[in-house]
Amino acid sequence: MLKVSGIESFYGSSQALFGMDLEVGDGQVVTLLGRNGMGKTTTISTIMGIVRASSGTVTFGETDITALPSFKIAKLGIGLVPEGRQIFPNLSVRENLVATAANRGKAANPWTLERIYEMFPELAERSTSMGNLLSGGEQQMLAVGRALMTNPSLLILDEATEGLAPMIRQGIWSCLKRLKDEGLSILVVDKNVADLMRFADRHYVVEKGHVVWSGSSEDLEKDIHVHERYLGV
Ligand code: ATP
Repeated sequence: MLKVSGIESFYGSSQALFGMDLEVGDGQVVTLLGRNGMGKTTTISTIMGIVRASSGTVTFGETDITALPSFKIAKLGIGLVPEGRQIFPNLSVRENLVATAANRGKAANPWTLERIYEMFPELAERSTSMGNLLSGGEQQMLAVGRALMTNPSLLILDEATEGLAPMIRQGIWSCLKRLKDEGLSILVVDKNVADLMRFADRHYVVEKGHVVWSGSSEDLEKDIHVHERYLGV
């Protein structure tokens, strides 16, 4: 579904990615792990065309998306839940959800307001509230709902549960498990490695702009060295 090969990315003259490689298969949940400042957000920004790759390729399905503008990448079916949520503050919950809604891939059972409200009843209750009046948890649900309303085939979440209370965090994980069961492919960045290991298929550990380890949840559980050396736990 998604293949990132040998990506190098810069901020001005400062290099952030040094040959980044990763793959997300159809219907898989894949994680990007690593300490702060190692290049996870830059990898996502490069996939989305927000940061330009100076070399390497990003392929989505059959399409080389490396040089495409972000709006075209989104239209091809990648939904982003960005770090910090980036909810439209002066739009209501409902307006945030419908603003970018589309079913370009002609999904048989497309996401609708009703389906989002069924998944997140809290959002239904706050349908007319402005984005800036929501709690962090409600904003994160809204950011997930907004991305789903574009009917993506790949959902990318950067810091999926950052700053959320444990109960709200578990709600986000339940939602992702449900989406996985429905066949959505998911690439997720988060610090809660133990939670991710329960349902992710594959993990990539990033250090200084490239992958230093990859494997299954079982492999990761066994490899104490990876936890100590790269995840700081
Ligand atoms: P975090 O969890 O802290 O966001 P990360 O693994 O996502 O960490 P990135 O945000 O991708 O890491 O940062 C990778 C490197 O790029 C870091 O050295 C960071 O300082 C640098 N960097 C990130 N954003 C910018 C920017 N807008 N301008 C310049 N350098 C940046």
